[in-house]
Amino acid sequence: MNIEIIPVTSFRQNCSLVWDDNKSAVAIDPGGDSQKLIRRIEELGLDLKLILLTHGHLDHVGAAPQLKQYFDVKVWGSNQADQYWFEALPEQSKKFGLFEIPAFLPDRWLNENGEKIRIGELEFEVLQLPGHTPGHVGFIDHKNKVAFTGDVLFKQCIGRTDFIGGDHQTLLNSIKERMYVLPDDTIVIAGHGSYTTIGQEKRTNPFVKVES
Ligand SMILES: [Zn+2]
Repeated sequence: MNIEIIPVTSFRQNCSLVWDDNKSAVAIDPGGDSQKLIRRIEELGLDLKLILLTHGHLDHVGAAPQLKQYFDVKVWGSNQADQYWFEALPEQSKKFGLFEIPAFLPDRWLNENGEKIRIGELEFEVLQLPGHTPGHVGFIDHKNKVAFTGDVLFKQCIGRTDFIGGDHQTLLNSIKERMYVLPDDTIVIAGHGSYTTIGQEKRTNPFVKVES
């Protein structure tokens, strides 16, 4: 498994390119800067097979339509509970002062917890992680112990819940019941900032610490 993290937009959202040894690739949360992402995917010689989205915020989905069109691939995710965010993409552009994009919907919602997505030699389990948004999902590579979990759990921080549809207690439950049960050495690639591990956050995250 190979990973390259490319920060996109002025929010420095972490878009992850993930590929296997045959260069079969997925792009997780291509939030903007589509030309930069297209160039990098071509430089690496990747065979992009699928776009995965953790949730419907603009800085996570903003380049998905361009990548979809350019590489002729599908867009999967998030859970359908985020449909209102996708429909509100033009309003999100104005509110966040980012580039404008028309509303779009994914080709397929990921509504089932535990669904497996296989692309070449890659395998991800879909985790439902509501709280930051109601339809937020994460993509877990159990074999390589890497979790792509968007704006749920950050190094020393947690996702915001003050947007419409956000809920603090739901977010805490997602972290405790779905993420903190992963092995401690699982690497968490968050939507913003540097990566961390489940064990490190269980010990030191000021918002969701687990006393041992
Ligand atoms: Zn977000």
